[in-house]
Amino acid sequence: MRAQVAIIGGGVGGTLIANRLMQLLHGDARHETSVTVYDVRGLHTYQPGWLYVPFAQQDPEKLIRPEKRLLNHDVMLLSGTAGTVEHIDPVAKQIVTADGQTHSYDYLVLATGSRNAPEEVPGFAEGANHFYSEEASIALGQKLATFTGGRIVTGVASVPYRCPPAPLEFTFMLEDILTQRGLRDKTEIHYVFPINRPFPIESVAEFVTPLLAERGIQVHTFFNVDSVDPEKKIVSSLEGEDLPYDLLVLAPPHRGQKVIDVSKLGDRDGWIPTDRSTLRVKGYEGANIFAVGDATDLPVSKSGSAAHYEGHIVAEGIAADLQHRAPRQEYHGRVACFLETGHGQATFLWFDYAHPPKPPRPRRMWHLEKAALNTFYWQLIPPARV
Ligand SMILES: Cc1cc2nc3c(=O)[nH]c(=O)nc-3n(C[C@H](O)[C@H](O)[C@H](O)COP(=O)(O)OP(=O)(O)OC[C@H]3O[C@@H](n4cnc5c(N)ncnc54)[C@H](O)[C@@H]3O)c2cc1C
Repeated sequence: MRAQVAIIGGGVGGTLIANRLMQLLHGDARHETSVTVYDVRGLHTYQPGWLYVPFAQQDPEKLIRPEKRLLNHDVMLLSGTAGTVEHIDPVAKQIVTADGQTHSYDYLVLATGSRNAPEEVPGFAEGANHFYSEEASIALGQKLATFTGGRIVTGVASVPYRCPPAPLEFTFMLEDILTQRGLRDKTEIHYVFPINRPFPIESVAEFVTPLLAERGIQVHTFFNVDSVDPEKKIVSSLEGEDLPYDLLVLAPPHRGQKVIDVSKLGDRDGWIPTDRSTLRVKGYEGANIFAVGDATDLPVSKSGSAAHYEGHIVAEGIAADLQHRAPRQEYHGRVACFLETGHGQATFLWFDYAHPPKPPRPRRMWHLEKAALNTFYWQLIPPARV
């Protein structure tokens, strides 16, 4: 009997794991294993590119590629109703797809990512803009193109959210673009953040605080977005602060995917309890279920970078099991990402569970390295070349 590996989600983590498994399995182990990726659309999106769409610096169509073209030819891809997983039974080791089919597996990888949950904040859908989907980033670009001055409120509705640096990057880039368009003097920029500093990690918060001040960006901490009044154009916090706006740009609330909720595999917000070293799903240790990336409850950034490093560990964990040996690696919380600081510069964040980032001063070099990653992502990460 061939061992069946089912990977739910063809994003950063799921694609890398499928391809890495093919690199790690040789001879009999490879012939005796089948790997299937289940994905809703069968399309792979490079989400970091959405940051640049509102500034007309990125064509959104270039951020999407067919998943099939990114997968090793021995990996099977199911998409559409055949690839949309509606229920997971971890005891029977079966998944049910939207076409009504039941599929058995021996190893399961949950790489389902996260979803925007604007419904969590009354008025968000009507009053707030964002760049956390293709449609929203295009719509925001149209509003920015006709913006002539006023008060812009940027920031984050609630934690956790994808790519912690992205709202700050957007704010720095916005300040830069408004200056270039001669609108900076006519615009107030306010940045709101739910905790006591403008970034989740203390060392990065200390690094960006003077930069925000230098650029005249007013920071409002302890601002957990409670509601948006789209008529009066006011965003209100749970802490009791009301901020009027002309344009509101907020990272939306995030939740785990519905299939995780209905299968009772997640916590209250749909994040999967995951072992921080082995990436096995907690409570199912003997059942060969792994989780990766945004879908997990791990104390690391919801980032493609984390999904990438975790993906290597999950592939190694499954390969080791199939080859009847101990895994050679475990996850130490490694994340590496850039933070655009505007004016063609960026910094670099490199950290793990034990070592917080020490951001170097903003330089053009880091901005160019981020641009290079944005271009060469397709050749590097999904094929597991790095
Ligand atoms: C604006 C923005 C900027 C970002 N910038 C950066 C950055 O600079 N650096 C960085 O490291 N990260 C960045 N990220 C975050 C990064 O894109 C995500 O963290 C990463 O994509 C997570 O990978 P994943 O594999 O966990 O999930 P995803 O890549 O989201 O993939 C999940 C996949 O699962 C599929 N799926 C979901 N439910 C089901 C189901 N029921 N059945 C079948 N398939 C399903 C989805 O269709 C999707 O294809 C950014 C994100 C955004 C939005």
